[in-house]
Amino acid sequence: MPKHVFVTGGVVSALGKGIASASLGYLLKARGLRVTLQKCDPYLNVDPGTMSPFQHGEVFVTEDGAETDLDLGHYERFIDEELTQDNNVTAGQIYETIIRKERRGDYLGGTVQVIPHVTNEIKARIMRLGADGQTDVVITEIGGTVGDIESLPFLEAIRQIHLEEGPEDVLFVHLTLVPYIKTAGELKTKPTQHSVRALRDIGIQPDILICRTERELGDDIKEKIALFCNVETEAVIDARDVASIYEVPLRFHADGLDDIALRKLGIENGKPDLSVLEELVGRIENPSREIDIAICGKYVDLKDAYKSIIEAFAHAGAENDARVNLRWIDAEAIEQCGDAGRHLDGCHGVLVPGGFGERGIEGKIQAARYARENGVPYLGICLGMHVAVIEFARNVCGLASAHSTEFNASSDDPVIDLLPEQREVVDMGGTMRLGGCECRLLDGSGARDAYGVDTVRERHRHRYEYNNDYRELLESRGLASSGLYPEKDLVEIVELPNHPWFIACQFHPEFRSRPGRAHPLFREFVRAAVAHAEGNAAPVARADGGSSDGRSRR
Ligand code: GLN
Repeated sequence: MPKHVFVTGGVVSALGKGIASASLGYLLKARGLRVTLQKCDPYLNVDPGTMSPFQHGEVFVTEDGAETDLDLGHYERFIDEELTQDNNVTAGQIYETIIRKERRGDYLGGTVQVIPHVTNEIKARIMRLGADGQTDVVITEIGGTVGDIESLPFLEAIRQIHLEEGPEDVLFVHLTLVPYIKTAGELKTKPTQHSVRALRDIGIQPDILICRTERELGDDIKEKIALFCNVETEAVIDARDVASIYEVPLRFHADGLDDIALRKLGIENGKPDLSVLEELVGRIENPSREIDIAICGKYVDLKDAYKSIIEAFAHAGAENDARVNLRWIDAEAIEQCGDAGRHLDGCHGVLVPGGFGERGIEGKIQAARYARENGVPYLGICLGMHVAVIEFARNVCGLASAHSTEFNASSDDPVIDLLPEQREVVDMGGTMRLGGCECRLLDGSGARDAYGVDTVRERHRHRYEYNNDYRELLESRGLASSGLYPEKDLVEIVELPNHPWFIACQFHPEFRSRPGRAHPLFREFVRAAVAHAEGNAAPVARADGGSSDGRSRR
């Protein structure tokens, strides 16, 4: 049976529990252990798929088509393993299961209660992961902050697991904040003491404390925290703010986190080789050039909504020796002023990300037009592909009212239309086209060049799709269909062969980008943006699809 590590958070939210959990996972894997991670979310939604990105941030999609918490993105990026729907447990799923069982009569004669029914179901879900005999350590992050009413059943469940499995097989890690009070010139330990007391009140004594802080925790502070919180001094880990999240495992290792975790779990293992991560961090933090990429979307006030895209740029920047500055542009602002150039001038690439709903859509269409007409590298993702197709249909093919039926159900030219299998869909939760699908790449295309292989698998999350009725026209005017889903002949990638770099895809490449292995489309997009910044870009495309001096892109 695997060992279990539970990560809880205290004092305030947003301390980076997901990154802390993923970093511990990275270190344990680097020491040769087979590791998996899971997130328990105390909210009552079955999954975050129906929540607004403003509420929840990005919805991360797994290969098997689960819509999950964005922390699963951190987990996949750090431990470089594909996760599944089993790696994200929500209170909604727990209650849904229990209510189904109750209706079936599984609890006949009994009163169904939080303890033991809800807690047993949580325990079963937690223990199911890693029961395959392929896992040495399961790291489970409990969402929310200690003291929240909602997370209590989850904390009670992990308390019971500790009791049942024994302390040698279960480790409690608690992430807290040690604030620096400027006027006093001091780091304060009291919030951590209170947070640990709240945990102990419900029967959980943390083994390790990871302390987020602006300043180094001196030995005196560590000793004080250790004494008041009843942990060993070496088990108080300094988690200072760092420039790149990929530095976090290195800092944790330097402060002994993996050593103490393994010692407490009774696992003996060699030293980790962290040279790959060290090199990556060096490249992320000391690039020799900079570029500006405009991200033109609707949720730009909440960067969490684009987490995987931000990380994909970090990976792609590192591989191109460039710092990628992201310029966040509210698509609605472009729409209101009507001049995309005012917002996009000077940027070296334009990305229109995925999204839902009509707000800002005309601004995104204008951004795609600006990139096409000015030879600025463009990467469109999902909705970003839809707007590229609409823009091309309107301004190059002369279909003035071209639109997506998502925004205009009675458009004369629905160049983007509902997928046929979506027509009967009634429920909104978990019913999009979701997860990994094969995509065959057109020989000689920019997409094929970027990937370097003929067939790839990419993850989807959408209901609307390129309308094949317009394919002949769009292709004849210069919008190549460079990626296809063979089974249903769906167009998954479009591109402009005579533009310096203009590729838009129906899937979400950002979910598959990894540190040290940037996604090919992001890597090549950044490469094109660097070339654009350095004045080496290929000629600008004309509206008719030809290039200004007749040279082709490659
Ligand atoms: N709203 C569009 C659709 O449902 C695009 C979705 C997305 O960008 N993820 O097809």
